[in-house]
Amino acid sequence: MTRAAEDGTTDTTVVIVGAGFAGVGCARVLARHRVQVLLVERNNYHQFQPLLYQAATAQLAASDVGTPLRTLFHKDETVSIKKDEVVSVDAATRTVTTTDGHSYRGEYLVLAVGSQPNFFRTPGADTHAFPLYSLADAQRLRSRIFELFEAADRDPKLVDAGALTFVIVGAGATGVEIAGALADLVHNVLPDEYRDLAVQATRIYLVEHGHAVLAPFSRDAHEYAIRVLQRDGVQIMLGTSVKEVTSNSVVLSDGSAIATRCAIWAGGVRAAPLAANAGVSRGRGGRITVLSDLTVEGFDRVYALGDVADIPSPDGTAFPQLGSVALQTGQWAAKSILADIAGRPRGSFHYHDKGIMAMIGRGAAVAEVGAKRHELHGAIAFAAWLGVHTWLMSGVRSRVDALVSWGWDYFSASRTPALIDRPDAATIDWGDEDGETPAAPGPAQLKPAAR
Ligand SMILES: Cc1cc2nc3c(=O)[nH]c(=O)nc-3n(C[C@H](O)[C@H](O)[C@H](O)COP(=O)(O)OP(=O)(O)OC[C@H]3O[C@@H](n4cnc5c(N)ncnc54)[C@H](O)[C@@H]3O)c2cc1C
Repeated sequence: MTRAAEDGTTDTTVVIVGAGFAGVGCARVLARHRVQVLLVERNNYHQFQPLLYQAATAQLAASDVGTPLRTLFHKDETVSIKKDEVVSVDAATRTVTTTDGHSYRGEYLVLAVGSQPNFFRTPGADTHAFPLYSLADAQRLRSRIFELFEAADRDPKLVDAGALTFVIVGAGATGVEIAGALADLVHNVLPDEYRDLAVQATRIYLVEHGHAVLAPFSRDAHEYAIRVLQRDGVQIMLGTSVKEVTSNSVVLSDGSAIATRCAIWAGGVRAAPLAANAGVSRGRGGRITVLSDLTVEGFDRVYALGDVADIPSPDGTAFPQLGSVALQTGQWAAKSILADIAGRPRGSFHYHDKGIMAMIGRGAAVAEVGAKRHELHGAIAFAAWLGVHTWLMSGVRSRVDALVSWGWDYFSASRTPALIDRPDAATIDWGDEDGETPAAPGPAQLKPAAR
């Protein structure tokens, strides 16, 4: 039985692994009730994934997207933080072990380790493509993008070797957002010194093996997204899969290849690797199977939350891997733990559906708001996006000024400095060690539309 000290602190220890929306959302509610929390996270910061593409295209600084955990919890005396990577889980004893051999055991264990890119075993994708799932990914991608503009400025002949060709794999929300942001960067933001060449020679391809852009949205939204992207010069290739990614090309299912030095992977996610080392049952996408109260099947005091959990929804499917789902699972699990401490019954997870939304370009977004999916396009959808993401950010941070000022600045084209600060990603071997560079596609076919 849990004891409560005079200052209200309880001696129940909750070990939370992962400080994304789910882990931080859970820790914040527990901290308000002075429950002892040990938060184990491999980074020393919380990363706000919905803003990663803004960081990759220099719309936001890295510090706007990542917040140090010790800053987030500096007022919460009952929360301690360990920067460490968990490599194994013993669900029966609620113990986790880290890379450097430390073990942590809690009365409750919360697994909130999120997801990782799914390359679907595409040869070369894990080595040569740029995924966009972490702050480090966004910094690497930004360095690569701006190095390519610099390289083309130094030697315009490199355009023929794919220097200004960007191939985005996957036309879901992440792929569409990065395609729109890249087009915006070229047309509205690049410094004058290399803007002329960039506007004339940049090619942006959005490759999707399905037959729709933004598949989870309505048919009207698909058409709207295609119109906006094509207006901005994005070449959309539906019904086309990527067969291989090399250091200088992307090979497509029809056997053709596009010369590029920047293939951006937005092709989907699967559960974080720890899910496979937790000794628990797993479902869709390798995610941990949980019961309706979010506990792991067979382990009453072990929770799996957010992206890493296969959470049954009332319609028999699983809840989507969204920030709003993750945040609410974190808050729900915390309330269940508090109910246990108070001797009250737990309930089944109830999700307040905020809808789905995606940004397509400057002032252009689609949103299907609320459980009834009220459909919005354009500036009003952009405002809905900003509202929902401000709510999301306030669930994990106390300050949302970066997001609000970004929303404001978006219309005035102001940007943060586009630093090339990740030499590992910026170094390009123009010697084509993987073989011949495929011919660049013809300019007439690909010339971006005038704005
Ligand atoms: C580019 C992008 C854009 C997105 N845009 C939106 C959007 O606009 N709206 C929306 O609702 N959702 C969006 N999503 C989805 C949303 O970000 C995720 O659903 C959400 O982040 C999941 O939260 P989580 O807490 O489950 O996992 P995460 O946020 O991924 O957090 C998991 C944490 O666990 C840590 N971790 C992992 N393994 C270990 C380990 N072994 N040891 C220690 N720590 C570990 C990670 O470092 C990470 O900090 C987007 C996702 C991406 C990738």
